[in-house]
Order: sequence, then structure tokens, then C-alpha cells
Amino acid sequence: MQRSDFIAVNEPLLDGNEKKYLTECLDTGWISSEGPFVQRFEQAFSTRVGRKWGVAVCNGTAALDAAIEALGIGPGDEVILPAFTIISCIGQIIRCGARPVLVDSDARTWNMDVNQIEAKITPRTKAIMVVHTYGLPVDMDPVLAIAKRHGVAVIEDAAEAHGQTYRGHPCGSFGDISTFSFYPNKLVTTGEGGMIVTNDDGLAATCYSLRNLCFQPQRRFVHERLGWNLRMTNLQAALGVAQLERMDEFATRKRTMGKRYTELLSDVAGLQLPLAQTEYADNIYWVYGLVLADDVDFDAAEAMKKLASLGVGCRPFFCPMNQQPVLLERGLFAGESYPVAERMYRNGFYIPSGLALTEAQMTRVAEAVGSILK
Ligand SMILES: *Cc1c(COP(=O)(O)O)cnc(C)c1O
Repeated sequence: MQRSDFIAVNEPLLDGNEKKYLTECLDTGWISSEGPFVQRFEQAFSTRVGRKWGVAVCNGTAALDAAIEALGIGPGDEVILPAFTIISCIGQIIRCGARPVLVDSDARTWNMDVNQIEAKITPRTKAIMVVHTYGLPVDMDPVLAIAKRHGVAVIEDAAEAHGQTYRGHPCGSFGDISTFSFYPNKLVTTGEGGMIVTNDDGLAATCYSLRNLCFQPQRRFVHERLGWNLRMTNLQAALGVAQLERMDEFATRKRTMGKRYTELLSDVAGLQLPLAQTEYADNIYWVYGLVLADDVDFDAAEAMKKLASLGVGCRPFFCPMNQQPVLLERGLFAGESYPVAERMYRNGFYIPSGLALTEAQMTRVAEAVGSILK
């Protein structure tokens, strides 16, 4: 196998106005976060997802960290989140002294099972964090109803859901505070980058301040709160503005790719393919995930090894939070089990899903997947 034949798990498309806008940054000398593309990107993006405020930050993890801090979550508080997610969701919950409380997944949609949330609410619950995972949104109506009933905030991690909607409304428009990532495997990329969006003036002001070390306008080097430097550069925002111009096109392309993979793979035995739709959304196939049936005699790790030897790059599904060494070491989740999430980790992985993927590459990937399951 020639190395140039290897099909990478993700390759972005950067052939719109990216170069033009980056050149503009260089030509004008505006490369820091003070440059004009940052506000342009914040306004255009927050408008696209139907929010009043957008706070651009350096990555999606930082957006989540700031969201937790802005909501005033701290020692003794509890935050409910899915077991099946990225470590970014839980970091600041732990660092601030709050307690993460996990919910298992729905085996069909791969999202958090919203029927399990209410049983986890206690007087200490401050927020429910939802994470739209792999292409379908979380079933938001029940979550919003529970949050309202119990007076808790909703944090919406929409890092995998640019361009996706829930019952016709954009993902990112549901949380008291919602967050995005613009890492290169996301639908809109800035290389590294993230954004917090909200309609709440107070939360927005706090996030702007937290992003910039909580400098004070009047007494710049006197601080009344500890912030971070989470600023996004003008260079990143220039990429973001160019990418955002193509978000609809990208979303359509992902859906077309997802449907094509489903056609190519529907006859392969031993695989659960992504659900095409639910009553509230059509899958946007942010990544094209596969879950091996229990009667397949190898697991996801083995499948990925076989596929790599055939020149196909894959990624494992998330490792559930209750199986993370770094969290167990802290005495978290001892004896807790989330069987759906654990099985998804054991049997799940995703195949090349980047926007630059060609039809010929998809056919080769599908053939490789078919061949390892013969
Ligand atoms: C990518 C991702 C993040 C983290 O974003 P970074 O920009 O890589 O820090 C957070 N949450 C979810 C669901 C993600 O997919």
C-alpha cells in the first residue's frame, strides 16, 4: 500500500475565500484578536444559529470551560452530562469542584438517553449538559421541560452540530449557553477555535470578560475575577468567515456523503449504521459511525487495525467518562456502569468522513469494510 493511497479519516475543504481573507489579514497587519474578522465572525455565526451573542474563543474545550464558569457552577454543585462524550465536557466541572453526574446513551441515536435525566436531578443540580453526537441532535424538548421544571440551566455542546437543526431550529439555539468547536474535523473550521453563543446579556458579558483575563475597562490591570486568555486570532476568524459562507453547502455535502455510505454498506452483515432520521431531525452525518454487532468476533480496535492495513483511516468512538483512568483515579464513578455507552465504545468507530472525501474513496472504504466482515 502506497502511503499516498491512505484515506485519511478527515480532510477539510479550504478552497473558498479562505486564502483571500487570510491574505487580507497579512496585508493589513491585523493578526491578533483585535482584528476585524473576529467580530465579523461572531456576528455572522451567532446570527446563523439564531443567537444574540457570539463570543469567539481559542477552541471548543475553552468554550465549555468558560460556559461552566460563567454559569457560576462551583463546589458542591452537580452537572448532568452524557457518559458517552469527549473529555472536554467534564474538565471544568471537575476543576471547579462540582460533581459530574452521568447519563447513559440511547443505542439507536447514540445521543444521551433523555428518559434517564430526571431521575438524576437533585437539589444540587445546577445544569444539564447536552452533547449532539455524531450527526443527530439530542431530543431537546424533554430536556428543556425538565430544566424548566427544576430551574436548572442547559449547556448545549453543539461542536458536532453546525448546520444541524432540531424540529427546524438550529442546534446551538437551545442552551442557556451553547458552545461550538471549529477544529478541522468540524463542519466549519478555523484550524483551532470555538464559540460561545447565548441570548443572555449577562452571560455574554461574563464570557467576553473571562476570555480576556477579566481585564477591566477602567482599571486594566486590576482584577476582580480570574479569567483566562481564550482569545481567537484574526487569522482564525478570517478562516471562519470564509468557511461560514459555505456552511449550507457543507451540510448538504455531508448528508449526501452519509446517504451514499449507507447505500454502499447496507448489505454488509454485522454492522449498525447511523440512523438516517428521527422524528425531529435528519442525520447530518458529522462523522459516519459504525457499531459492530455482538456476534462479530472482533471489536472496534481490531476492526480499525484491519482497516488501517487496507489503507483506511478510522477513529474509535468516545471512551465513556466512567471508564476514564484519570477520572476513576479521582474516585469518580466507582462501580457505576453505563452499558450502552460501554458497548458503543467497545464496538464503535467511524470511517473517513471529511468534506474532501471523493466518491472513489468512499467506494474503496466501503469495500474495505465489507471485506473485513466477510
Ligand atoms: C470537538 C469537540 C469538542 C472540543 O473542541 P476542541 O475545539 O477540540 O477543543 C467539544 N465537544 C465536542 C462534542 C466535540 O466534538
